[in-house]
Amino acid sequence: MCVVCGCGDAKRNMPVAAGAGPASADDTLRLDFGAGAARVSVPGMSQARAIKLEADVLGANQRLADRNRAHFAAHRVSAYNLVSSPGAGKTSLLCATIGLLQRRAPGLPLAVIEGDQQTSHDAERIRASGAAAVQVNTGKGCHLDARMVAAAFERLPLHAAAHHDAASEIGALLLIENVGNLVCPALWDLGEQAKVAILSVTEGDDKPAKYPDMFAAAGLMVINKIDLLPHVDFDLQRCIDFARRVNPDIEVMLLSARTGDGLERWVDWLLGERPGAGGDSPLDRRVRDVQAHLRPVLEKAG
Ligand code: MG
Repeated sequence: MCVVCGCGDAKRNMPVAAGAGPASADDTLRLDFGAGAARVSVPGMSQARAIKLEADVLGANQRLADRNRAHFAAHRVSAYNLVSSPGAGKTSLLCATIGLLQRRAPGLPLAVIEGDQQTSHDAERIRASGAAAVQVNTGKGCHLDARMVAAAFERLPLHAAAHHDAASEIGALLLIENVGNLVCPALWDLGEQAKVAILSVTEGDDKPAKYPDMFAAAGLMVINKIDLLPHVDFDLQRCIDFARRVNPDIEVMLLSARTGDGLERWVDWLLGERPGAGGDSPLDRRVRDVQAHLRPVLEKAG
């Protein structure tokens, strides 16, 4: 349970009125429990108390995340935090990524931290794909925190070496698969270089609007399962427009972990090879997306 998502278990609370001004017919059909100062409603807890608790908890996590970030830098480890709903294809993408990285960057130390409430299924899949993995089970917890990642990192072979001999800019790569949840992991810094929000075309194309905190926190949105585009009603441009509305700087990538389409570009990104990154405007990026990426994919999808 965490105060961030309001999943406490006290007994009473009331919604804050939706919208300002005279109630419209629409307002009577919408209850907004996030309109208070804390932007979260926890039964039995005041808004001031919720803010204080969140600041304390996230502040403690931030100090540990900063320590992780320094620790990763000391080992020349680039760490990425993969977040999504359950079923968006995080583990499948990681398995495909490991295979491609072994061909593209043989010798690059690589490891995965897997977050799930229960089981070691995903860590077993990762190990079968050829990378070291530590499974973190969170029990009732709905996200990984910086302390969990620190404990997992110490158990990985990455931790045993400094990776100073590697010729590439990146000494080693650590991929963290967070618990499937588009809400809570948005606010928990793990010490990563960037959050990667993964969305699949079998989900709603308005998820960036429904879960804005996650897409605001992410540096990259990966749209997965594009091989299924001809079979689903997923509007790519609408999805990207929603994401850019909450985060004008978010990068966008389309791929299919199953077919391998788009995976080279994703691996380029992980390896720090990002043509055009930095310096160009959100509009430039959008034009580049459409010209260089969306159009061929849309043509292919028919
Ligand atoms: Mg998984």
